[in-house]
Amino acid sequence: MNGIFAFSFKITNWCNLRCAHCCENSGKTNPPNFMPLDKIERYLGEIQNLPYNISEYIVIGGGEGMAPYFFKNIKYIPSALNLVFRAGKIPTIKTNGTWGASADKRNLILGTLANAAYSADILITLDISVDEFHDNTMAVADLISGILSNDYIMATIRPVLVGFNTNGSANALKKLKAELNNRKIGVDELPNGDFGVYNERGTGIRVPVDYSGAIHNLGRAVENRVYTSTDSPTTPYVNCVQIDNNDKVILNYLYSEKISGCGLKTVIKRLIERAAEHGA
Ligand code: SF4
Repeated sequence: MNGIFAFSFKITNWCNLRCAHCCENSGKTNPPNFMPLDKIERYLGEIQNLPYNISEYIVIGGGEGMAPYFFKNIKYIPSALNLVFRAGKIPTIKTNGTWGASADKRNLILGTLANAAYSADILITLDISVDEFHDNTMAVADLISGILSNDYIMATIRPVLVGFNTNGSANALKKLKAELNNRKIGVDELPNGDFGVYNERGTGIRVPVDYSGAIHNLGRAVENRVYTSTDSPTTPYVNCVQIDNNDKVILNYLYSEKISGCGLKTVIKRLIERAAEHGA
């Protein structure tokens, strides 16, 4: 199998939302347990020794990637970030951004991430869903305002907006930009579809956007469905490997196997062989 292997840790299946399109079957009724940190550390060690071309980015997601903060577990995310840094990788956290509406959570999370990013001298990205399924315009505007309010945070955290190639997602993005304008935040369209935001002092950041993906799997997940994402399983050159909180490894959203009694390397080799049998 050619291409880069991009790893992501699905640290929990808990989420404060319950979106109609969620392919993870995430929600508030799922147990708020988080992948043990020693497990993340062990898997990061195994990832480093894999005989493949491994992406420099490691995704931390769920469920809601910031879920530990909803349970006053304020040490989990900075500890996970440190493990990713120590493995020589760059962390990206997937989130619905709704915590941006709470001043307490926003200040705590942005401050913590900024300190972690500064100490590792690495820019931390937040992958924020802004689409027709997430009712989060005001919260994400709060979050972006929070980043722009502080030079230190601006220099260390980058929001990346993610949606679909649908009119609904385009409208959600338009609505967010209008709300930013309402708050006297400047919005500059950039040639490749990204946009810049700047504060009243005239300093700002670039906000990358990714609205290239189609919706492949509308509807909440069912028990026997392996396909766990609205992303395309056929993205060229990038093989997505997710490891969930129950030690299940999922390759390209289609092939999964639980790690039990054997290492990550063996499981990934088997999954690649299964994909090859299907012509992938
Ligand atoms: S789509 Fe994202 S925000 Fe919505 S329920 Fe699923 S994990 Fe939560």
